[in-house]
Amino acid sequence: MSPYVGDDPQKQAVYHMEDDDLRGHCRHRLSLRLLRRYANELCAMYEVPDVSISVYENGLGGSCLDGKIQLDPKCGMNGLTLAHELAHHICDVKYPRAQKHGPMFASVYGCLLSSLRLVPLPGFRAICRKHGVRIARTWPLPLESPKARLPVRPPAES
Ligand SMILES: [Zn+2]
Repeated sequence: MSPYVGDDPQKQAVYHMEDDDLRGHCRHRLSLRLLRRYANELCAMYEVPDVSISVYENGLGGSCLDGKIQLDPKCGMNGLTLAHELAHHICDVKYPRAQKHGPMFASVYGCLLSSLRLVPLPGFRAICRKHGVRIARTWPLPLESPKARLPVRPPAES
């Protein structure tokens, strides 16, 4: 069930931020196996129960409910969508009273993007500032990276 906007005042700002400044990080595609490995390692690092990840075409990118993440096969099989949905899972477990896309969510999301080496924290702070997304002052999570690595591909020849 999607939260009532009054309980989630930052939702649209987070979505706009992703559309405007983070969408480029969706242009890679990871295998379900690697996404599960990342999720496994990150859940262990951040001391929350593991999530299940399944592929389901919903047109939204991803969703997270009760420890179950669903990723859309067309637009959700990437590190950015995984980090967003995993941030929901971690907040659900550690900060259950926090706003769905509020400052604590943003902080956890930033930690995960940094751990996945997609967006460094100073860059994430700057993007949040630009879009008026409030972020908790503390980085609540360790910033180590999972051992599994994003595949590095050479740039396409033009
Ligand atoms: Zn969300």
